[in-house]
Amino acid sequence: MGKVIKRIGKVLALSYLCYFFSGMAYNFLASRPSVFEGKYNTDKVKAKKSVKQKVGSLEELIKTLPNNKKANIYLELYIDTEVKRFYDDLNDKTDDDKWSKEILRALKGLNLYEKEGLHFVIDKVNVTSLDYYFGVNMEENSSGVDSIITKQFINYSDVWYASTKERFKLFLLPPINKELLGFAKPVEGYAVVFMTNSEKWNESTTAHEIGHLLGLRHPLPTLWLELSCLLDPFNILIARDVMLQGIWKQSYKLSDEEKKVVKAIKNDLIYRREMLNH
Ligand SMILES: [Zn+2]
Repeated sequence: MGKVIKRIGKVLALSYLCYFFSGMAYNFLASRPSVFEGKYNTDKVKAKKSVKQKVGSLEELIKTLPNNKKANIYLELYIDTEVKRFYDDLNDKTDDDKWSKEILRALKGLNLYEKEGLHFVIDKVNVTSLDYYFGVNMEENSSGVDSIITKQFINYSDVWYASTKERFKLFLLPPINKELLGFAKPVEGYAVVFMTNSEKWNESTTAHEIGHLLGLRHPLPTLWLELSCLLDPFNILIARDVMLQGIWKQSYKLSDEEKKVVKAIKNDLIYRREMLNH
């Protein structure tokens, strides 16, 4: 009997080791430079012009109207012209619209909350040119981007709207380093998604950062989050939650607790709208 238990233990330990190392292999593959590396072979000025010309049609694709059966949250979109430069290879005519397709796919991350009765109204698409190191220096951190955005785009009314959860800003930028997929500033009411070559990452990062704007937090402290990623590279054992995004595997689900928070926001938004109408 003891022998059998020992053998089962060995098999389990070995399969866990295999699981652990296959996760490391996955990490190696997932963070391969191609996920974060853009084309950037179009002239900046040229790219800016063509994005500004095309944003009208992109706006048509993205725009959504208020839905009075749901709780509407207004989302202002800011797309940086460098996103086009990231995706669009100057020498490849077939990928000219890739940037807009990737943006649409990233916005699918909002569906997670639409299912819970929230509705994101995208009424304006802005083109930005944050114009700095993108594609040149991949060692920036979020504070550099944060200070630029806060200075140029955030004002008092944004802070007010963020507190009522009525209106947020979402910035779509190309990656600045090989670790950071996005960040959110719930008080200022804005989030950043660093667009990668992985559609799945873009989608789940959008869901994750919007979650932060709605007041959701990581269910585990950061250290644990990192540790859980190391112990559970495929997020099978610990992390399946959209707010528990690992660096190795992206998740795309709301826990029951998080659904409760979203529901409370929904009820509050609907209540306030009704108060205004009476
Ligand atoms: Zn987070």
